Amino acid sequence: DLYNKVIELKGNIRVFCRCRPLNTEEKTGGASMVVDFESANDGELIVKGHVSSSKAFKFDSVFSPEDGQETVFQKTAPFATSVLDGYNVCIFAYGQTGTGKTFTMEGNEEARGVNYRTLEEIFRIIRERQGLYHYEVTVSVLEVYNEQIHDLLLSGSQPTAAAKKLEVRQVTEGVHHVPGLVEAHVTNMTEAWEVLQTGSKARVVGSTNANEHSSRSHCIHCVMIRGENLVNGECTRSKLWLIDLAGSERVAKTDAQGERLKEAQNINKSLSALGNVISALATKSPHVPFRNSKLTHLLQDSLGGDSKTLMFVQISPNEDDVGETLCSLNFASRVR
Ligand code: ADP
Ligand code: MG
Repeated sequence: DLYNKVIELKGNIRVFCRCRPLNTEEKTGGASMVVDFESANDGELIVKGHVSSSKAFKFDSVFSPEDGQETVFQKTAPFATSVLDGYNVCIFAYGQTGTGKTFTMEGNEEARGVNYRTLEEIFRIIRERQGLYHYEVTVSVLEVYNEQIHDLLLSGSQPTAAAKKLEVRQVTEGVHHVPGLVEAHVTNMTEAWEVLQTGSKARVVGSTNANEHSSRSHCIHCVMIRGENLVNGECTRSKLWLIDLAGSERVAKTDAQGERLKEAQNINKSLSALGNVISALATKSPHVPFRNSKLTHLLQDSLGGDSKTLMFVQISPNEDDVGETLCSLNFASRVR
């Protein structure tokens, strides 16, 4: 049965699947595409294995290699409005290293990603609502590496390992806070983007191999918004989390030793903790295991309740990657 896996999503959790294009090297090497979009209807994606093992997956949206940043953002933009309406929002990019997590979230100057576009949309709406609402915006940049939270705005040019380690504390019921976390006040897009870039740079400076390091840590941008309705005086506080997760690829135990093995175990721990939390929330389980990882603990007050979650599951179209692709799609199917 081709349609043996249909993911139905309800509530406040949305899952989008995005497939990167084959790169030049793969094209010249004659790599074959294992993901089928041609026959895919709205939100459906088919992973062709051998004919008998083809699997269909359903998502809230599916983006093929031809879909650009603008197309992706059209489906993401409503989350910006939600944040300004007072909802907490988490947007994640999950997937194997090299599948486009950073491309989707950060993008580049020619092809801005979700982070840039969402911030731009937030400031556009703030301008649009001027006179009716007053908003205060602050931004933070963090990294979770080896189950430790680092503040990338505080560390400046300090190597990540030397940066101050932060903890999550519960302030009052349902409100979590990270004491000491730098929250930079920003009033427009230029300022906001400058701060976020400072954080990203600190991350690169602090590591010997920037690419490798970034695939083994979770990069987190947090936008905090305080809103005041000038008509009725009602106040809101909300957070938008933009998270470029560590690579989900499994590392063979035989290949990893020492520090590398520890990293791999910590990534595995936090990604499965995230999967467990989201799936517990989606199934309305009475116990949600937030405390099992630093990442889920950090996000505790922004996951569940009336918060909104968007997970981008990033995949490769290359037949050589089909094992990891199916793992990522299966992860996504747990998150329902
Ligand atoms: P990850 O962060 O998951 O390791 P990257 O975002 O670094 O992956 O993407 C790997 C490479 O593929 C980069 O060179 C990136 O520009 C390119 N890439 C990824 N997704 C796309 C896409 N949808 N369109 C064009 N290029 C892409
Ligand atoms: Mg990356």
